[in-house]
Formats: sequence, C-alpha cells, structure tokens
Amino acid sequence: MLNESLTKALNDQLNFELYSAHVYLAIAAYCSGESLDGFANFFIVQAEEEKFHAMKIYKYLNDRGKRVTMAGMETPNNEYGSTLEAFEHAYEHEQEVTKRIYHLSDLAMNDREHATIQFLKWFIDEQVEEESMFDSIINKLKRIDKDSNAFFMMDAEYALRSFTPPAL
Ligand code: MG
Repeated sequence: MLNESLTKALNDQLNFELYSAHVYLAIAAYCSGESLDGFANFFIVQAEEEKFHAMKIYKYLNDRGKRVTMAGMETPNNEYGSTLEAFEHAYEHEQEVTKRIYHLSDLAMNDREHATIQFLKWFIDEQVEEESMFDSIINKLKRIDKDSNAFFMMDAEYALRSFTPPAL
C-alpha cells in the first residue's frame, strides 16, 4: 500500500514530467522560429519522451490503486539567445529532474516501498542518459562555435530523430 506522501510525490513527478514536455515544446517553438527545423524536431521528440515518462507514472499509480490528479503549469521560458543557450537550459532542467527522482527514491527507501524503489530504477537510468545526451550536445555546439556548416549539419542530423514509445 502506497502511503499518502509517496503517492503525492509520485503524482507531483507525473505533473513535472508533463511540465518538462511543455519546457521542451517551448524550446522547439523557439528553434522553429529560427528556421532550425532539425533542432525543433529534436525537442518535439524530447517532449514526446517526457509525456511517455508521465504516462509511466500514471499507469503505476493506477496499478497501485491510486487516483492521479492533474495540476496547472507555470509558463516555460519561450525566448533564448541562441541554440546553445536553449540546450544549456534543457541540461539544467534535466539536472533538476534528476534531483527530484533521487528525492522520490529516498522517500520510497525510507518507507521500504520496494515496488516503488524498483519502479524508480528505470527513471534513475533514464536520467543518466538524458544528462549525458545534453552534456555531449552542448560540448559539440561549443566546439563548432561559429562553424555554420557544422551547425547546419547538426540541424540536419536532428531532423532524423524519432520516438517510438515502448510498452508502458
Ligand atoms: Mg523525463
């Protein structure tokens, strides 16, 4: 039986994953506005992944007999000075997500809620991937600096990114 505080913390995380989708769609819109369709696609796909993360928690709470509730959302940042700045913002956002997942994991461990500890392992691994991906893109963007050929090659590369949701 999930206690009320852990249930609320999981429900908050579900809402934060949806907020992450919102943050990434705002970055996608910024990229579209700059005619960087590949980078825009990258963030649209990222937003789909975030919605998938939210739905994983949705299903988990339902499976544990708990009622999910939706919260309102803050307006995300819609303006950026550069693509690099947008990726840096995304990286900081993912570090915040990691902090929240660790906190959730601590709560589950304090309650000795083994099913939830197990459930959160997937998210812990996912955060390692997310942080590593953003860190490496930021490094690339810094390295290519003012080389516009390399920059547009990256844009073309990210036009190919896609997301096929695995089973929840
Ligand atoms: Mg996520």
